[in-house]
Amino acid sequence: MTEKIKVKNPIVEMDGDEMTRIIWQLIKEKLITPFLDLDLKYYDLGVKHRDETDDKVTVDAANAIKEYDIGVKCATITPNAARVKEYNLKKQWKSPNGTIRSILDGTVFRKPIIIRNIPPAVKAWKKPIVIGRHAYGDIYKNSECFIDRPGIAEIVFTPADGGEKKVVKIHDFDGRGVVMGMHNTEKSIRSFARSCINYALSEKTDFWFGAKDTISKQYHGFFRDVFAEEVEKVRDKLAQAGIQYRYMLIDDAVAQVIKSPGGMLWCCMNYDGDVMSDMVATGFGSLGLMTSVLVSPDGKYEYEAAHGTVTRHYYEHLKGNPTSTNSIASIFAWTGAIAKRGELDNTPDVVAFARKLEQTIIDTVEGGIMTKDLMLIAEPCVAKYALTEEFIDAVAERLTKV
Ligand code: NAP
Ligand code: MG
Repeated sequence: MTEKIKVKNPIVEMDGDEMTRIIWQLIKEKLITPFLDLDLKYYDLGVKHRDETDDKVTVDAANAIKEYDIGVKCATITPNAARVKEYNLKKQWKSPNGTIRSILDGTVFRKPIIIRNIPPAVKAWKKPIVIGRHAYGDIYKNSECFIDRPGIAEIVFTPADGGEKKVVKIHDFDGRGVVMGMHNTEKSIRSFARSCINYALSEKTDFWFGAKDTISKQYHGFFRDVFAEEVEKVRDKLAQAGIQYRYMLIDDAVAQVIKSPGGMLWCCMNYDGDVMSDMVATGFGSLGLMTSVLVSPDGKYEYEAAHGTVTRHYYEHLKGNPTSTNSIASIFAWTGAIAKRGELDNTPDVVAFARKLEQTIIDTVEGGIMTKDLMLIAEPCVAKYALTEEFIDAVAERLTKV
C-alpha cells in the first residue's frame, strides 16, 4: 500500500444512528482511514449517547466545528414519542441538526450528485440545482388564530422604548375565518444572504433569489433589499470569480429552473425551500444521491447526507436480512469535508484524493454496480443490485486501482 496522505488540520466527526451508523463505520474503515492520515475529533451523536449526556454532546460537537471550521455528520434520529419508548430515552431531545444550525447560525444547501446512467426526471437538467433554504421564521414560527365570529383582526406592535404603538388592520371579518401572524429578523435574513454568498463563492456558482415582492412589498421586499445590499458589499469579489447574481419573482424562478440545464444555487425563503427541495430531490432521482452542507455566515462548513437513518433497512439488518442501502450521499459528505479541509489548508493532494474518491463512485455506478434504489431508475437497466457492503467494497477496490 502506498503512503497515506497527511491532512494538516482536524475534521470534526459526528457519528449517528441506525443503518447510516453501520454505513459510516464501513466508509471510514474502507475508504478513508486506509488512504488518509487524518486527525478526527470524534463526537458520538448516536441517540443513546445524546440521552446519556443530556444532549451536551451535540452542543460540544457544534462548538468543535466552530473551532476547527469543518465537520462531517452521520444521519441521526430526531426522537418522537415512539423513539423515546423504543430507545428508553429521558425525553424527546431536539433535532441535532436544529441545535447545530442554531449554534453555527448557518444555512443548509442541498446538492444532488449527477450520474450519467441515473437520468433526472426533468430532461433539461444536466448540472446540479442547489437549493439554499432560509431556515428561520415565516410560517415556521407563526402565531395563528381561528376567528369564530365577526370582528376586526389587527397587527399590533408595541415598541420596547415606550414609543407609540403601531396598529395595522388585517381584515374586518363578517363571519368565521382564520388569521396568521409571522415574522423574520434583519439579522437572520442578512446571515442567510451571507451564507448564500459564501457558498456561491466557495462553489463558484451563479445564484438566484426569488420572492413575491410584487404582492408583499414590505415583507418580501425587505428580503430582496437585504440580499441586494449584501451582494453589493462583495460585488468585486463576485465579478472576479465570474459569478452572477439574479433576483427574480418566485414564479419566474420556478419556471426558469425547470427549463434550465441547472448549475445554479437557488436561494429560497423558508417555505419555498421546504417545498422546492423535495421537488428538486425527486426530480434528480434518489434521496441517496442528495448531499447537504450547512454553511455559516463566518465560513464554517458541516457536511452530511440529506437522507435520514434509513430505519426500515436497519430493522431488516437487525433481523439478519441482507440490505441494499445507498452509501453515496454519506461518502460525498466525507469527500465534501475532506476537499474543503484541503482547500482551507492549501494542501492540493488532499483535495485531489476527495475528487478521486468522488469520481470512483461515479465510475462504479456508471459501470453498472449500484444499490437497489438506483437500479430501479437506471438507464440502461442493470440486471442486479449490489448489497450495502458489496457497493462499498466495489468502490474500495476501484480506488486502490486508480
Ligand atoms: P429516511 O431515513 O431518509 O428514509 C426514508 C426512505 O427513503 C427509506 O425507507 C428508503 O426507502 C429511502 N432511503 C433514504 N435514504 C436511502 C438510502 N441511502 N439508500 C436507500 N434508500 C434510502 O427517512 P425517515 O424514514 O423518514 O427517517 C428515519 C429517521 O431518520 C428518523 O428517526 C428521522 O428523525 C431521521 N432523519 C434524520 C435526518 C438527518 O440526520 N439529517 C434527516 C431526515 C430524517 P425504502 O424503505 O422504500 O427502501
Ligand atoms: Mg419538505
